[in-house]
Amino acid sequence: MSDVMIELSGLSKSFGSLEVLRDIDLQVERGEVVCVIGPSGSGKSTLLRCVNLLEEPSAGKVSVDSTELTDPDTDLDAARRHVGMVFQQFNLFSHLSVLENLTVAQRKVLGRSKEESEKVARENLAKVGLSEKADSMPAQLSGGQQQRVAIARALSMNPHVMLFDEPTSALDPELVGDVLGVMRQLADEGMTMLVVTHEMQFAREVADRVLFMDGGGIIEQGPPAELIGNPKEERTRTFLARVL
Ligand code: ADP
Ligand code: MG
Repeated sequence: MSDVMIELSGLSKSFGSLEVLRDIDLQVERGEVVCVIGPSGSGKSTLLRCVNLLEEPSAGKVSVDSTELTDPDTDLDAARRHVGMVFQQFNLFSHLSVLENLTVAQRKVLGRSKEESEKVARENLAKVGLSEKADSMPAQLSGGQQQRVAIARALSMNPHVMLFDEPTSALDPELVGDVLGVMRQLADEGMTMLVVTHEMQFAREVADRVLFMDGGGIIEQGPPAELIGNPKEERTRTFLARVL
C-alpha cells in the first residue's frame, strides 16, 4: 500500500483561453493534513474540484489511493466514492430530514440497507455532536449545524480522503469554532485532508503543510510555522499581511 494518498502530476486546467491551473505537482501522504491558502481567483477551488474530477483537467494526472482517476479505463463513480467533499454552501437536501440526508447516498450509491445506513448515519451524527438532530429538517438548524451535517454525510460514505472548500466562510463567526473542532478531530483520527481555508489559526495548529497558491500555481509550501511565520516569497508575504 502506497503512502501517497493524493497525487497530482503536471495538472493544468484552462477554461477557454483562461489558464487557471498551471502544471501543478502535489503529493499528499496518507493521514496528512494540507491547507491551501491564496487570494480569490488563484485556482484553489478548481484544484480541489480536479481531485475528484468534478472538473476535468486539461492536462496531467490525478490519482487517489493509487487509482488514476484520469485513466479513461477507471470506473470514475467507484473511485469518487472514496473522496468526500464539503463545500462553503452546505448543499443539504432541504426536503429531507437530517437522517435521510445521511442515508440516501449510502443506500443508492453503496447499496446499504435502511438499517445499516441509519446505523452508520447515527454514528457519524454522534461524531459531529448532533445525535439529537436526526429527525430535524435542515432549515431548523444553524449554519454551523448544517455544515456539521454535511461533514457527517460525507463521512457516512467512508471516504479515504476529505476535501474541504472554505467550509466556514459562509458561517457567522460564533459558529465557526464548532465546525473547525470537528475537522480537527477528523485530522487527529488520521483522515487525509486537503483544506482550502482562510482560518490561519486552524492552519497553524492542524495542518502538517500549508500551500500558498497564486495565479494558478503553488508559489510556496512548507510547515505552517515556516510558511505563515516566515514566508520566503514576496507574494506570500503580501497575501498574509492582508489576512492576518
Ligand atoms: P479560488 O477558489 O482560488 O477563488 P477558482 O478556482 O474558483 O479560484 O477560480 C480560478 C479562476 O478560474 C477564476 O478566474 C475563475 O473565474 C475561473 N473559473 C472557475 N471556474 C470556472 C468555470 N467553470 N468557467 C470559467 N471560469 C472559471
Ligand atoms: Mg474558491
